[in-house]
Amino acid sequence: MNRDVDQTRLLAWLRENDPARLEALWRLADDTRRAGVGNAVHLRGLIEISNHCVRQCAYCGLRAGNRALARYRMNETEIVAAAWQACALGYGTVVLQAGEDTGLEGHWVARVVRRIKTETGLAVTLSLGERTEAEWAQWREAGADRYLLRFETSDRALFEAIHPGRGGPPADRLAMLARLRQLGYEIGSGIMIGIPGQTFESVARDLQLFRELDLDMIGIGPYIPHPDTPLGRGRVSTAPAGQQVPNVEGMVYKVLALARLLCPEANIPSTTALATINKRDGRELGLQRGANVWMPNLTPMPYRRLYQIYPAKACLEETADAADRRLRERLAALGRQAGSGPGSRKRVPAAAPAPAAQMLQCCER
Ligand code: SAH
Repeated sequence: MNRDVDQTRLLAWLRENDPARLEALWRLADDTRRAGVGNAVHLRGLIEISNHCVRQCAYCGLRAGNRALARYRMNETEIVAAAWQACALGYGTVVLQAGEDTGLEGHWVARVVRRIKTETGLAVTLSLGERTEAEWAQWREAGADRYLLRFETSDRALFEAIHPGRGGPPADRLAMLARLRQLGYEIGSGIMIGIPGQTFESVARDLQLFRELDLDMIGIGPYIPHPDTPLGRGRVSTAPAGQQVPNVEGMVYKVLALARLLCPEANIPSTTALATINKRDGRELGLQRGANVWMPNLTPMPYRRLYQIYPAKACLEETADAADRRLRERLAALGRQAGSGPGSRKRVPAAAPAPAAQMLQCCER
């Protein structure tokens, strides 16, 4: 694997503001997406199964210290019903996501996964935070196919500042991802864009890491301040002058497009966070600048509002059925169609897409 994609070139792209050059980048990302993963947009039904959390992440509204938030945990019947709804809507995957909730007991999660797999046949992705290896093994055994764990930023000091440990050594999410892969999961990771203290250099490094980790799935969204968190209450950036990455839409597209160039075969969602900062067409622009996945929200309405990792989430207005009708119209308007089947990562023969370094070069940077 090519590990030496030029940091300098990535940095120049991250700082690029010339509209014509950016147009060329979007085009290249879209062409690479088409060659690498095709025109289908895979739909993953997102079920936010619990908003309880034992952690104190400085960015996230679910943090244990946020007493303003009413907490919920879905029961087995509710989760399986939501999976059936995914099936009825023709989705190939459900994603079970939660705060880091130790109340989601390992055996219980395994049972829910097994039921969804045997009853619906859907692919199951888990995004339940940092759990024990024994639990990850048990869930894999029960049939879970994929695990999402964003490393959030490759800057260790920044990560440790915004994601405090729980007494033990600091979390090593890269090691955890390696372990998850060994267990046979498809692995997904990703970052937030514009965390206070996040530098351009660190984002260039994040991009290189996506490639080095050979990620199957990559989630990229803007950091959105939540008023009931330490970071959202206005912690100031520690980045040197001119180094702070802004948490704006344009930056998200750049990182998304570059991630696509570096990882042509990865499944990359156009995220809810992106759709939140541009409710009109953020989702579409993401899909035209590298993304090939859409994660419609299937969490039952009364809970959806409470899964408040950041405020004013894009999915609060419409029921799953209404949103599904509209998303299909929106895909058709883009000339894209919904994918069928589980939408697992497909490895493309080495000859197909040009190597990333070449891709980045041919854009005359
Ligand atoms: N507890 C799980 C799932 C967390 S929610 C875990 O820690 O992996 C999924 C993702 O939402 C996080 O990984 C983070 O990247 C994102 N997120 C959390 N707070 C956010 C915020 N304020 N703005 C934007 N994204 C946020």
